[in-house]
Parts: sequence; C-alpha cells; structure tokens
Amino acid sequence: MTRDALLLGVDVGGTTTAAGAVTREGAVLVEQRVLTHRDGRGRAPETIIELLGSVREQAERRGHAVEAIGVGVPGPVDPTVGRIGEHVPHVPELAGRALAAELAERFGRPAFVDNDVNALALGEWMFGAGRGARSLVVLAPGTGFGAGIVLESRLVRGAAGFGGELGHTPVKFDGPPCWCGGRGCLALYARAAPSARCSARS
Ligand SMILES: [Zn+2]
Repeated sequence: MTRDALLLGVDVGGTTTAAGAVTREGAVLVEQRVLTHRDGRGRAPETIIELLGSVREQAERRGHAVEAIGVGVPGPVDPTVGRIGEHVPHVPELAGRALAAELAERFGRPAFVDNDVNALALGEWMFGAGRGARSLVVLAPGTGFGAGIVLESRLVRGAAGFGGELGHTPVKFDGPPCWCGGRGCLALYARAAPSARCSARS
C-alpha cells in the first residue's frame, strides 16, 4: 500500500542544515540535520543533495512517495525561478546558483527555493504561531539575523527581496561596516552568536 505522498523541506543555515519529510498538513515524519560545512567550505550544495537523498530514502522506506521539494536558504532568492542571489555571506558557495532547477533535475520532482526566513514566516503563518492571523512578523536570530513579514495575507518581498531584512536596519549609524553596504546593522549586534569582535566592543 502506498501511503500519502510527502514533501521534502530543507532549511539551510550558516551552521546547520535540517531536512524533513512532511505531510501537506505540516506533520514532520522524518527529520535529519547535519553541519552545513561538514565536508568543508564550498561543499554545501553537495551536502544538501546528500541530505535530501537520505531523507527521501527514509520516507520511501516507510512507504511514502515524495511529491516535491522546498528549500530555504540564508540569502536573497528569486523565488519564481529558484535562483539564489549574490549575497549569501554564511554559505557563499550558494551564490548565483539555480538551485531549484538543479534539485528538480537531480530528484525528478518539482523544487522550489526561497529565502529561509520568508519560508519560516509562511510556515508559521500556515501551520504555526501565526495560523489564522492576517499579518505577522517573524524574527529569526541565527548565524545572521533574519526577519520575514506577512502583511494582509501576503509575504512582503520588497525590492531585491530585501523587504523582510529587518536585520539590516541601522541601529548605530557610526557602527562597523556590514556586508550589505550599510553600517551598524541590527544583524551585527542581535544575532544568536555575536562575533568576538562585536562582543569585545560591547
Ligand atoms: Zn547590513
């Protein structure tokens, strides 16, 4: 007997990458996580593919087919084609990659890629803390400091996908330069693992 088809979801972080096989109702049936750079810097795409393969195998062993793949990455994404932008400071090897097309070809299933915190905001809105709300803001301090905004039941992407990047709001105008081109961004102070430099300055 074939059980319900599942969706594979991957959250690529600057430190850890997590993958799961989930039902359409959001129940996680298989979960696995690895260090994003376990195979060395520059190898994250291969690690993502191996992780997806492993989770798919576990889902299939339980009698589930896999219907589609969704990936959240820590950087700007053109979600219509699943191409990652050029600024991916924590996983730079993903910059410019057409990851959705690569995964669709590799696994023979439709694949979608979006910014990780946009995906998180949609997830919380559909299945989690924001279920039933028309608008919400998700703050996600991790290796960086991401944020996602749902306004009147629509995800706010903004110019160049920066609509929800509250982490790049300047909080100290004469603060240290940030990779985004600004200075003293919230992300430099408020992320989960502040750099030694920031800690030393505070
Ligand atoms: Zn910044």
